[in-house]
Amino acid sequence: MKKLGLHWQILLGIILGAITGMIISNFEGGKEFSQDWIKPFGKIFIKSLKLIAVPLILAALIKGVSDLKDISKLSKLGGRTIGIYITTTVIAVSLGLVFVNLIQPGVSISKKTRTEMIENYASSTQKYKETAKTRESYGPLKPLEDMVPSNIFASAMNNRNMLQIIFFAVFFGIGLVLIPEEKGKTVKDFFDGFNEVILKMVDLIMLAAPFGVFALLAALVAESPSADLFTALGWYFVTVIIGLLAMILIYVLSILIFTKKSPTFFAKGISPAQLLAFSTSSSAATLPVTLERVTEHLGVEEEVSSFVLPIGATINMDGTSLYQAVAAVFIAQAFGMDLSLSTQLGIIATATLASIGSAAVPGAGMVMLVGVLGYAGIPEAGLALIFAVDRPLDMCRTVVNVTGDATVSMLVAKSIRKLK
Ligand code: ASP
Repeated sequence: MKKLGLHWQILLGIILGAITGMIISNFEGGKEFSQDWIKPFGKIFIKSLKLIAVPLILAALIKGVSDLKDISKLSKLGGRTIGIYITTTVIAVSLGLVFVNLIQPGVSISKKTRTEMIENYASSTQKYKETAKTRESYGPLKPLEDMVPSNIFASAMNNRNMLQIIFFAVFFGIGLVLIPEEKGKTVKDFFDGFNEVILKMVDLIMLAAPFGVFALLAALVAESPSADLFTALGWYFVTVIIGLLAMILIYVLSILIFTKKSPTFFAKGISPAQLLAFSTSSSAATLPVTLERVTEHLGVEEEVSSFVLPIGATINMDGTSLYQAVAAVFIAQAFGMDLSLSTQLGIIATATLASIGSAAVPGAGMVMLVGVLGYAGIPEAGLALIFAVDRPLDMCRTVVNVTGDATVSMLVAKSIRKLK
């Protein structure tokens, strides 16, 4: 029998996991069973992915930058990467705004449902508001200041410090390019070999992926709230999904137009990373796999992918920004507010910045949404309205975040002739 492709295996894991979760949730004590005996395996899987994130970024970026051999190439690469990332994010927010204005999902929410939800979810949303509050007190240049670490070992101790690690790795890579070749050779060889080992570790972890996603989905479904709320939020859900699908279509088209690669080629190459993004809701946890797929299956040379993807995982979140735009306007509609054109244009700017600032972990988009709501004068209590369906939407927007990063790495690679 021919072995099932990895993406089919993962998909099977997702489906069987969801079914198992549904069955378990019907039994008394099912939730506890899943917490004690299933969830830990999902956690182990995510942890092992996160475990290699920091060493992977260090090794891949140092190797990538030193392979460039010429600093001027780096600034070209950096400029294009940031430029295309911002463009795709602005497109995503605009798409979100178009769909939410056309479909108007918030108009159908009755006053009764609104009050009920706000009461039910008041305490859950408090956490998000508080996290957002601490961020509010920061000055405008704080993100730039935060990017520069004062101690690389301290940064490497927390996966949230991706940008600091990227900063160090690029800086180190530049240093490596600037010293005489014979002096840097040992260091370069070390990082080349180190990088190979890490990529092999990714392969090994992926062998467990079907089981990992099975456990994640089973636990998620077993613990999810009742489905009634979904109906009230149906249109909101549909609006975000339509927007996300439209965004995927834009990626596929731009790949077809600019790189002449077919949609099936792209889908085959990236689908394991997409399925993993869906199951983990975290682009950071998916990064090792995205990097491996883009480099080994989509033909992007490593010096480009190792630079573009880690940066993308931290600053490029098209799915998140699209969702933030839809959510903000949806809440406004539910509260009967009319948003002017200029406010909506402002949402484009704030949602773009908010998605850059969002961490690549589950639920991060919701924290930053508080900022977008604040900007547009929309009541923060409205977060309670979208809370119930946030997790499934988080899973879907993370798929788009990861697909966007992969797309941009192909476009950038093509533009500097580094696409095989
Ligand atoms: N979970 C998303 C990610 O990791 C971020 C978010 O939208 O909450 O890409």
